[in-house]
Amino acid sequence: MEEKEISKAVIRRLPRYYRYLGELIESGVERISSSELSSRMKVTASQIRQDLNNFGGFGQQGYGYNVKFLYSEIAKILGLDKKHNVIIIGAGNLGHAIANYVAFEKRGFIMTALFDINPERIGKKIRDIEVLPLSELEAYIKENEVDIATLTIPKTAAKEVAERLVNCGVKAIWNFAHTDLNLPEDVLVENVHLSESLMRLSYNITSVEKSREEQ
Ligand code: ATP
Repeated sequence: MEEKEISKAVIRRLPRYYRYLGELIESGVERISSSELSSRMKVTASQIRQDLNNFGGFGQQGYGYNVKFLYSEIAKILGLDKKHNVIIIGAGNLGHAIANYVAFEKRGFIMTALFDINPERIGKKIRDIEVLPLSELEAYIKENEVDIATLTIPKTAAKEVAERLVNCGVKAIWNFAHTDLNLPEDVLVENVHLSESLMRLSYNITSVEKSREEQ
């Protein structure tokens, strides 16, 4: 397929297409029209056509989309056809939860090691993933391929650890620490600020309650 710049907005929507298409495959659906997909996903049919046309327009007039083909094309675009080795820095509650979540592995994200500074955590295993001392971070990255580093450490430690990761050549950081990281432009940072997400929900609850009170 011809390499083409796909907008960030489209990329943000692709995992959702991927999930729906996966569900369609599981229920034995082989092809689907944009209007059918549109009513399932609650996205306009024209948005779907526009999004999917971005990478070659696999839909055919009167036939719709070949679900399996589209699913595997989206997987390729998202890089899900390859395995990604992931390390987790911070073996606290969140680090544990991520390491324990086996579904990531089905998508090709392999959790290979955890790191921590707490001697009580070092040496323990979560599933079969060992918690290593942070002092071994550089040596580990040198010897093992690391595609993504996850930060589940307090914000006070995040900047320093992120810089160490970048100095070792790590190019993608999945950041759960409550802070913005200022890293070189070629380092990809995906922030997952859980408490901000809760705050947005809180805002919405509050505004629904307010409007009820006003009625
Ligand atoms: P805990 O279960 O210890 O209360 P938590 O998930 O509630 O953890 P945090 O204080 O965010 O909360 O700590 C997460 C983990 O990060 C802990 O295991 C802690 O030891 C570890 N940690 C703290 N600083 C660092 C660091 N610089 N490098 C690696 N791990 C760190």
